[in-house]
Amino acid sequence: MTDSGDLPLLGGHLSLDFANTLEWRGSSRERDCLTGYEALVAWSLRAGALDAGEAEELRAYADWAPGSAAEVLAEARALREAVYRVAAALAAGGAAGETPLADHVADHVADDVADDVADNLENLNRRLAPLLGETRLSATAGAVPKATRGGPVPVRLVPIWGGASDDLARVLWPVARSAFDLLTGGAAGRLRECAGRDCHWLFLDRSKNGSRRWCAMSNCGNLAKARRHRAKSHSAKSHSAKSHSAKSHRARTQHRAGAQVVE
Ligand SMILES: [Zn+2]
Repeated sequence: MTDSGDLPLLGGHLSLDFANTLEWRGSSRERDCLTGYEALVAWSLRAGALDAGEAEELRAYADWAPGSAAEVLAEARALREAVYRVAAALAAGGAAGETPLADHVADHVADDVADDVADNLENLNRRLAPLLGETRLSATAGAVPKATRGGPVPVRLVPIWGGASDDLARVLWPVARSAFDLLTGGAAGRLRECAGRDCHWLFLDRSKNGSRRWCAMSNCGNLAKARRHRAKSHSAKSHSAKSHSAKSHRARTQHRAGAQVVE
């Protein structure tokens, strides 16, 4: 059984790991790891979105206001779904871009992706707006690295949160900011959805050749390999010994190739 405290962080980005707190999305084995406000805080602490002091404060505030904590949990789940839908639409476009397509097919794919993103943006914006409203800039000592032109700037600006420390929604501010940064940044082109059956976990493909297919080779990758292996073994039974040998060799070759595509 997985709960939020030991859920693997495989997405390569805070907002994607947040989307991945729902396992086996939409399938009969779907499991929500955000089982309560406490689980949301525990996950945020583990993912680096909160420090230990903030987590302790939020737990104490949540004990005083369980109704508000339940509302924030519901909002967290809604935000998670909104992030997933837009990110998955972008991931579909990125994955299609890796495959050579005829121009007319590529145009259809691009239209579908644009429609999918547009259909889900309003909901995501509505979720993000109150959370991003707490972002502030703060000046801190420390020089910004010297740019190509001009001298170093002696003050560095860093993001901080301006809202009340007892606001239970504070747990969602870093996730909202992370989603905004990811979806508007250059890394969005590396968004992928795991090719594993029913998995739907999202990740950033940082492999050199952009060929990562699985959330983790040790997870969905190995399951897919085992399925391929079983299918090939079954098929081989109806062929001659010579044919069997050739297929096994191809299977072994594909096995190795599959093992190399994951970082
Ligand atoms: Zn997977």
